[in-house]
Amino acid sequence: MKIQAIKSEARFRGVGIHSGSPSEVVVTPSESPGLFFSLPGGVFPVQSAQADGTARGTTLVFPDGSRVMTVEHLLAALSGLGVWSALLSVSGPEMPAMDGSAKVFAETLAPLCEPAGGVTPLTVIREIAFGGPEEGYIGVIPSDTFEITCSIKYDAPAIGSQVFEGTMSRDVFIEAIAPARTFVLASEIEEIRKRGLGRGGAMDNVLVIEDDVPISSQAFRVPVEPVRHKVLDLMGDLATLGVPLKGRVVAYRSGHRMHLELVRRIRRSLLSD
Ligand SMILES: [Zn+2]
Repeated sequence: MKIQAIKSEARFRGVGIHSGSPSEVVVTPSESPGLFFSLPGGVFPVQSAQADGTARGTTLVFPDGSRVMTVEHLLAALSGLGVWSALLSVSGPEMPAMDGSAKVFAETLAPLCEPAGGVTPLTVIREIAFGGPEEGYIGVIPSDTFEITCSIKYDAPAIGSQVFEGTMSRDVFIEAIAPARTFVLASEIEEIRKRGLGRGGAMDNVLVIEDDVPISSQAFRVPVEPVRHKVLDLMGDLATLGVPLKGRVVAYRSGHRMHLELVRRIRRSLLSD
Protein backbone atom coordinates (compact mmCIF):
# COMPACT_ATOMS: atom_id res chain seq x y z
CA MET A 1 0.00 0.00 0.00
CA LYS A 2 1.36 3.44 -0.92
CA ILE A 3 2.18 5.68 2.04
CA GLN A 4 -0.13 8.67 2.34
CA ALA A 5 -0.24 11.89 4.34
CA ILE A 6 -3.23 13.99 5.40
CA LYS A 7 -3.29 17.17 3.30
CA SER A 8 -6.19 19.11 4.87
CA GLU A 9 -8.16 19.31 8.08
CA ALA A 10 -10.97 17.00 9.19
CA ARG A 11 -12.99 17.37 12.39
CA PHE A 12 -14.97 14.64 14.20
CA ARG A 13 -17.32 15.31 17.10
CA GLY A 14 -19.33 12.98 19.29
CA VAL A 15 -19.29 11.22 22.63
CA GLY A 16 -16.75 8.75 23.96
CA ILE A 17 -18.21 5.25 24.11
CA HIS A 18 -16.82 4.51 27.59
CA SER A 19 -16.63 7.95 29.21
CA GLY A 20 -19.88 9.25 27.74
CA SER A 21 -18.07 12.63 27.57
CA PRO A 22 -18.37 14.99 24.62
CA SER A 23 -15.24 14.81 22.53
CA GLU A 24 -13.70 16.15 19.39
CA VAL A 25 -10.69 15.13 17.36
CA VAL A 26 -9.18 17.30 14.66
CA VAL A 27 -6.96 15.60 12.10
CA THR A 28 -4.53 17.97 10.37
CA PRO A 29 -1.41 17.68 8.23
CA SER A 30 1.75 16.88 10.18
CA GLU A 31 4.95 18.86 9.64
CA SER A 32 7.08 15.73 9.87
CA PRO A 33 6.37 12.14 8.80
CA GLY A 34 4.58 10.07 11.44
CA LEU A 35 1.38 9.91 13.49
CA PHE A 36 1.41 12.54 16.23
CA PHE A 37 -0.92 13.58 19.06
CA SER A 38 -1.12 17.24 20.04
CA LEU A 39 -1.63 17.33 23.83
CA PRO A 40 -1.36 19.89 26.67
CA GLY A 41 2.30 18.89 27.28
CA GLY A 42 3.39 19.01 23.65
CA VAL A 43 3.29 17.02 20.44
CA PHE A 44 4.09 13.32 20.80
CA PRO A 45 4.51 10.50 18.27
CA VAL A 46 1.99 7.70 18.80
CA GLN A 47 4.77 5.24 19.56
CA SER A 48 5.94 7.32 22.54
CA ALA A 49 2.76 6.38 24.44
CA GLN A 50 2.27 3.45 26.78
CA ALA A 51 -0.72 1.52 25.49
CA ASP A 52 -3.22 -0.10 27.84
CA GLY A 53 -5.74 -2.58 26.51
CA THR A 54 -7.38 -3.74 29.72
CA ALA A 55 -10.61 -1.67 29.65
CA ARG A 56 -12.38 -2.89 26.51
CA GLY A 57 -10.49 -0.52 24.29
CA THR A 58 -7.03 0.94 23.85
CA THR A 59 -5.92 3.86 26.01
CA LEU A 60 -2.70 5.70 25.22
CA VAL A 61 -0.77 7.30 28.08
CA PHE A 62 1.69 9.89 26.76
CA PRO A 63 4.95 11.14 28.30
CA ASP A 64 3.21 14.29 29.67
CA GLY A 65 0.71 12.08 31.54
CA SER A 66 -2.16 12.79 29.11
CA ARG A 67 -4.46 9.85 28.50
CA VAL A 68 -6.55 9.32 25.38
CA MET A 69 -9.08 6.48 25.44
CA THR A 70 -10.44 4.40 22.56
CA VAL A 71 -7.89 5.43 19.95
CA GLU A 72 -8.15 2.21 17.93
CA HIS A 73 -10.86 3.02 15.39
CA LEU A 74 -9.36 6.29 14.16
CA LEU A 75 -5.87 4.76 14.11
CA ALA A 76 -7.28 1.82 12.12
CA ALA A 77 -8.82 4.24 9.60
CA LEU A 78 -5.47 6.00 9.15
CA SER A 79 -3.63 2.69 8.78
CA GLY A 80 -6.31 1.29 6.45
CA LEU A 81 -5.98 4.31 4.16
CA GLY A 82 -2.18 4.06 4.25
CA VAL A 83 -1.90 7.36 6.16
CA TRP A 84 1.25 7.52 8.28
CA SER A 85 1.60 11.29 8.50
CA ALA A 86 -1.05 13.17 10.47
CA LEU A 87 -1.47 15.27 13.60
CA LEU A 88 -4.38 14.40 15.91
CA SER A 89 -5.66 17.00 18.38
CA VAL A 90 -8.10 15.50 20.85
CA SER A 91 -10.42 17.47 23.16
CA GLY A 92 -11.86 15.33 25.91
CA PRO A 93 -10.69 12.09 27.52
CA GLU A 94 -11.64 9.83 24.63
CA MET A 95 -12.02 9.67 20.86
CA PRO A 96 -15.61 10.21 19.65
CA ALA A 97 -17.41 6.89 19.07
CA MET A 98 -19.20 8.01 15.86
CA ASP A 99 -21.27 4.94 14.81
CA GLY A 100 -19.00 2.44 16.57
CA SER A 101 -17.03 1.70 13.41
CA ALA A 102 -14.35 3.46 11.35
CA LYS A 103 -16.76 4.22 8.48
CA VAL A 104 -17.10 7.98 9.07
CA PHE A 105 -13.37 8.37 9.75
CA ALA A 106 -12.39 6.44 6.61
CA GLU A 107 -14.93 8.09 4.28
CA THR A 108 -14.09 11.59 5.48
CA LEU A 109 -10.31 11.12 5.41
CA ALA A 110 -10.05 9.15 2.13
CA PRO A 111 -10.34 12.23 -0.12
CA LEU A 112 -7.93 14.20 2.10
CA CYS A 113 -4.89 11.98 1.45
CA GLU A 114 -1.87 12.56 -0.74
CA PRO A 115 1.12 10.32 -1.47
CA ALA A 116 3.98 10.95 0.93
CA GLY A 117 7.44 9.72 1.78
CA GLY A 118 9.60 9.62 4.85
CA VAL A 119 8.04 6.54 6.43
CA THR A 120 9.68 3.12 6.18
CA PRO A 121 7.48 0.07 6.80
CA LEU A 122 8.56 -2.30 9.49
CA THR A 123 9.42 -5.60 7.84
CA VAL A 124 8.87 -8.73 9.90
CA ILE A 125 11.95 -10.93 9.53
CA ARG A 126 11.06 -13.80 11.84
CA GLU A 127 8.04 -15.27 13.53
CA ILE A 128 6.82 -13.72 16.78
CA ALA A 129 3.89 -15.56 18.36
CA PHE A 130 2.36 -16.38 21.73
CA GLY A 131 -0.78 -17.80 23.33
CA GLY A 132 -2.69 -20.95 22.47
CA PRO A 133 -6.11 -22.43 21.77
CA GLU A 134 -7.43 -21.76 25.30
CA GLU A 135 -6.27 -18.25 26.07
CA GLY A 136 -6.20 -16.97 22.48
CA TYR A 137 -3.29 -16.79 20.08
CA ILE A 138 -1.57 -14.09 18.06
CA GLY A 139 1.48 -14.11 15.85
CA VAL A 140 3.19 -12.45 12.93
CA ILE A 141 5.29 -14.06 10.21
CA PRO A 142 7.24 -12.62 7.26
CA SER A 143 5.24 -11.68 4.14
CA ASP A 144 5.65 -9.26 1.22
CA THR A 145 2.38 -7.53 2.11
CA PHE A 146 0.32 -6.65 5.17
CA GLU A 147 -2.04 -9.59 5.56
CA ILE A 148 -4.41 -10.52 8.34
CA THR A 149 -6.03 -13.82 9.25
CA CYS A 150 -8.35 -13.34 12.20
CA SER A 151 -10.80 -15.74 13.78
CA ILE A 152 -13.17 -15.59 16.72
CA LYS A 153 -15.35 -18.11 18.50
CA TYR A 154 -18.35 -17.25 20.67
CA ASP A 155 -20.98 -19.41 22.33
CA ALA A 156 -23.65 -16.94 21.17
CA PRO A 157 -25.16 -18.57 18.05
CA ALA A 158 -25.49 -15.18 16.36
CA ILE A 159 -21.68 -15.08 16.18
CA GLY A 160 -20.35 -18.64 16.51
CA SER A 161 -17.06 -19.17 14.66
CA GLN A 162 -16.05 -16.50 12.16
CA VAL A 163 -12.93 -15.98 10.06
CA PHE A 164 -11.66 -13.06 8.01
CA GLU A 165 -8.61 -13.41 5.84
CA GLY A 166 -7.12 -10.93 3.42
CA THR A 167 -4.34 -8.73 2.17
CA MET A 168 -5.11 -5.28 3.43
CA SER A 169 -5.51 -2.77 0.62
CA ARG A 170 -7.18 0.61 0.82
CA ASP A 171 -10.26 -0.72 -1.00
CA VAL A 172 -10.57 -3.82 1.18
CA PHE A 173 -10.33 -1.64 4.25
CA ILE A 174 -12.95 0.89 3.12
CA GLU A 175 -15.45 -1.70 1.92
CA ALA A 176 -14.96 -4.70 4.21
CA ILE A 177 -13.45 -3.50 7.47
CA ALA A 178 -14.27 0.17 8.14
CA PRO A 179 -18.10 -0.34 8.37
CA ALA A 180 -17.87 -3.13 10.98
CA ARG A 181 -19.20 -1.87 14.32
CA THR A 182 -18.21 -2.44 17.91
CA PHE A 183 -20.24 -5.33 19.26
CA VAL A 184 -21.23 -6.46 22.70
CA LEU A 185 -23.11 -9.45 24.04
CA ALA A 186 -26.28 -8.36 25.87
CA SER A 187 -25.15 -10.53 28.80
CA GLU A 188 -21.92 -8.50 29.16
CA ILE A 189 -23.55 -5.07 29.43
CA GLU A 190 -24.22 -5.11 33.18
CA GLU A 191 -20.62 -6.07 33.98
CA ILE A 192 -19.27 -3.39 31.62
CA ARG A 193 -21.45 -0.72 33.26
CA LYS A 194 -20.32 -1.88 36.73
CA ARG A 195 -16.74 -1.24 35.66
CA GLY A 196 -17.75 2.34 34.84
CA LEU A 197 -17.37 1.69 31.12
CA GLY A 198 -19.79 1.92 28.20
CA ARG A 199 -21.40 5.14 29.52
CA GLY A 200 -21.66 6.53 26.00
CA GLY A 201 -22.85 3.24 24.49
CA ALA A 202 -26.19 3.40 22.66
CA MET A 203 -28.06 1.51 19.97
CA ASP A 204 -26.60 3.81 17.31
CA ASN A 205 -22.96 3.11 18.17
CA VAL A 206 -22.86 -0.50 19.38
CA LEU A 207 -24.11 -3.71 17.84
CA VAL A 208 -25.85 -5.57 20.67
CA ILE A 209 -25.98 -9.32 20.24
CA GLU A 210 -28.42 -11.35 22.28
CA ASP A 211 -27.20 -14.72 23.50
CA ASP A 212 -30.16 -16.91 22.68
CA VAL A 213 -31.74 -15.18 19.72
CA PRO A 214 -29.89 -14.58 16.46
CA ILE A 215 -29.54 -10.83 16.87
CA SER A 216 -31.09 -7.73 18.36
CA SER A 217 -33.26 -5.45 16.26
CA GLN A 218 -30.14 -4.18 14.52
CA ALA A 219 -29.13 -6.03 11.38
CA PHE A 220 -25.55 -6.89 10.54
CA ARG A 221 -24.16 -4.25 8.23
CA VAL A 222 -21.58 -6.47 6.52
CA PRO A 223 -21.12 -10.28 6.53
CA VAL A 224 -19.29 -11.63 9.61
CA GLU A 225 -19.38 -8.13 11.08
CA PRO A 226 -17.98 -9.16 14.51
CA VAL A 227 -14.76 -10.70 13.18
CA ARG A 228 -14.34 -7.80 10.78
CA HIS A 229 -14.57 -5.44 13.74
CA LYS A 230 -11.89 -7.52 15.44
CA VAL A 231 -9.68 -6.93 12.37
CA LEU A 232 -10.44 -3.20 12.71
CA ASP A 233 -9.35 -3.22 16.36
CA LEU A 234 -6.24 -5.22 15.49
CA MET A 235 -5.24 -2.75 12.77
CA GLY A 236 -5.76 0.18 15.15
CA ASP A 237 -3.65 -1.46 17.84
CA LEU A 238 -0.87 -2.36 15.38
CA ALA A 239 -0.85 1.28 14.23
CA THR A 240 0.58 2.21 17.65
CA LEU A 241 3.87 1.01 16.11
CA GLY A 242 3.75 4.36 14.27
CA VAL A 243 4.73 2.79 10.94
CA PRO A 244 3.11 0.24 8.59
CA LEU A 245 3.84 -3.41 9.15
CA LYS A 246 4.96 -5.72 6.36
CA GLY A 247 4.03 -9.17 7.56
CA ARG A 248 1.22 -11.62 8.01
CA VAL A 249 -0.67 -11.36 11.27
CA VAL A 250 -2.61 -14.39 12.50
CA ALA A 251 -4.98 -13.91 15.44
CA TYR A 252 -7.37 -16.32 17.14
CA ARG A 253 -9.69 -15.08 19.92
CA SER A 254 -7.38 -12.14 20.52
CA GLY A 255 -8.21 -8.83 22.15
CA HIS A 256 -6.62 -5.43 22.75
CA ARG A 257 -4.34 -6.78 25.48
CA MET A 258 -2.86 -9.42 23.16
CA HIS A 259 -2.63 -7.04 20.20
CA LEU A 260 -0.65 -4.56 22.30
CA GLU A 261 1.57 -7.31 23.70
CA LEU A 262 2.38 -8.27 20.10
CA VAL A 263 3.33 -4.64 19.42
CA ARG A 264 5.66 -4.69 22.45
CA ARG A 265 7.27 -7.95 21.30
CA ILE A 266 7.74 -6.64 17.75
CA ARG A 267 9.49 -3.57 19.21
CA ARG A 268 11.67 -5.72 21.45
CA SER A 269 12.67 -7.93 18.50
CA LEU A 270 13.81 -4.82 16.63
CA LEU A 271 15.98 -3.77 19.56
CA SER A 272 17.60 -7.20 19.73
CA ASP A 273 18.42 -7.48 16.02
ZN1 LIG B 1 -13.37 -1.67 18.40
